[in-house]
Amino acid sequence: MLLNDDITTIKGIGEKTAEGYRKLGISTVKDLIYYFPRDYQRYDDPILIKDALEGERVSVAAKVVSYVDTRKGGRLSITSLSVSDSSGSLRLVFFNSPFLKNCFHKGDEFIFVGTIKIKGSMRVMEMPEYYPVYKYKSMLKAMQPVYSLTKGITNNQIKKSLTNAREAFLKIEDHFSDEIRNEYGLISKRSAIEEIHFPENEEKLKTAIKRLALDEFFSFLMGVREMRKNNLSISSSHIISNEAVSKLEGFKAGLPFTLTAGQEGAIKDVSLDMSSGNVMNRLIEGDVGSGKTIVAAASLFLIVMSGYQGALMVPTEVLAMQHYEDLKALFKPYKIRVELLTGSTSLKDKRKIYEDLKAGLIQIIIGTHALIEDKTEFKDLGLVITDEQHRFGVKQRERLGAKGNYPHVLIMSATPIPRTLAMILYANLDISVIKELPKGRKKIKNCVVGTEYRATAYKFIQNEVKQGHQAYVICPMVEESETMDLEDVENYTDELRNVYKGQDISIEYIHGKMKDEDKTRILQDFIKKKIDILVSTTVIEVGINNPNATVMMIENAERFGLAQLHQLRGRVGRGSFQSYCIFINVKQTKESKERLKVLEDSNDGFYIATEDLKLRGPGDFFGVRQSGDIMFRLADIYNHSDMLRMAQEIVLKYGDDIKINY
Ligand code: ADP
Ligand code: MG
Repeated sequence: MLLNDDITTIKGIGEKTAEGYRKLGISTVKDLIYYFPRDYQRYDDPILIKDALEGERVSVAAKVVSYVDTRKGGRLSITSLSVSDSSGSLRLVFFNSPFLKNCFHKGDEFIFVGTIKIKGSMRVMEMPEYYPVYKYKSMLKAMQPVYSLTKGITNNQIKKSLTNAREAFLKIEDHFSDEIRNEYGLISKRSAIEEIHFPENEEKLKTAIKRLALDEFFSFLMGVREMRKNNLSISSSHIISNEAVSKLEGFKAGLPFTLTAGQEGAIKDVSLDMSSGNVMNRLIEGDVGSGKTIVAAASLFLIVMSGYQGALMVPTEVLAMQHYEDLKALFKPYKIRVELLTGSTSLKDKRKIYEDLKAGLIQIIIGTHALIEDKTEFKDLGLVITDEQHRFGVKQRERLGAKGNYPHVLIMSATPIPRTLAMILYANLDISVIKELPKGRKKIKNCVVGTEYRATAYKFIQNEVKQGHQAYVICPMVEESETMDLEDVENYTDELRNVYKGQDISIEYIHGKMKDEDKTRILQDFIKKKIDILVSTTVIEVGINNPNATVMMIENAERFGLAQLHQLRGRVGRGSFQSYCIFINVKQTKESKERLKVLEDSNDGFYIATEDLKLRGPGDFFGVRQSGDIMFRLADIYNHSDMLRMAQEIVLKYGDDIKINY
């Protein structure tokens, strides 16, 4: 079995399973091997039913004390039974699993693992995992990898496929020679990848994650080095004209607001770079809501007014759509043609766009990955901007760059990175920082509360809506949870509609698994105020701008990383209205209270990122995603800063001898 063999060469994968795998982006053996778990689950000693807290994943050892009852409720069949231990009883609920009748008999003892919900006076566990006592003993304390799934692919399926692909692990190549590995005390890449799928123990797993983090940093830094070699003081054939610079004053004067000092500074830097005669490589760093879009717009204005084309690349379709609408309006008086190119642009429109781009009839193109497809050609691409850049690798940016004759490069990021680390990661970039938020913003008011506050929160949202404002409610992703223990976006929306029944409040939902065109439509409706409350997963986390939204309510806030919560919160407080963020802390553990308090106390992204690091527990294998824009798959700039430094050292010392295949 070779790494590049089709996934179906693995025993047990037929065409149907392969189809599911392809949905996860897995089509070769190699893809599967590099499909890392998103988490690990530990199976702990069972606790007493009475000690189980709401919202917490627990194991209980209990006996079946009732008959198994199955009834139909609409599309769903619901199977339920009661179990109890010496301390109390628990109702178990399963969906679409009528066959369970044959598994559970009165008096049988099982270990049930799941999340407790309290409904009235009853404790309920929905879709628990269940194990015979002897089986559970063998799993105790072992770490089970948890993978992101899709319909038709179970966690067990992935584990089985990986086991059947074991021989292919031998073919994994290492960037580093034995010599380098010895020098730095590194395990081999192959053992690291084996460990990550089949962890022996916690300590070895951590070593493995570190090794793979090192690899990610290393590839990234090699890319940076390559770019620097290519771009450093390359003379530019896209020098902006004096005329464009003077027209910019008029453009700025036409804006509905005055620019902040940080925005002015950044625009000045860009303008100097693009007049200098060399190719620009600049990063604009500014916290959420600091107004980076207008800096991008001004830069595009300069390049277009000088007779060249500009491209703006963003990580999500909804964000592309929004930038498109905004820039189109902004540039309308100047007769600048702006177009949008994404995965869901129709073939016909795409063809026309390709044609017009090549002919130079389109001045500005905005899009997602679709922009770097081979078919896009430009007449004379002078500037490439990536917004929320970390989602794009160095290579992707280079590919877009290669479509022009060394266009200027501008990168926008909200990720607060300590200066020392930024200097390593962005060694090839000049940096402008936007320190302040626009004037007139009111500080977002935060509160962290328990589930008992939910009703009050709904009332609060209702009041805001009555005053013409809008709200977001965030639920954790439904699509990743196998068990139904998390609030599900669609169900939640139904419940919410029930809460507001009879009132003129329009509620819609949006999530990552929807078709792109549906997402775009919902978002547009939200921005046009046709929707009052938008129930969403984290798909709206990056970039989305609706200054009229004043409330952000986040369910299960304890499940998100602090930096991610900060990004989510950044969706409100973008206008002059007082805005609010309500964090619902379901678990109410000491740790979650402590973490969420950081957000309650501060709206400063930099402070939050540093506190986040301090509060990380030893059980956080993957750290917490640093923000909406994840740069690495499993490396974490903060958590693995030692690996980042090591990678830098290896690049400096051995970079010339090592060849990287991206
Ligand atoms: P981000 O830095 O998060 O990308 P945006 O560029 O989306 O922020 O700007 C957020 C909001 O602030 C937008 O509604 C934008 O129109 C507004 N804005 C930007 N600059 C200013 C300013 N100088 N004064 C007032 N509002 C501004
Ligand atoms: Mg933005």
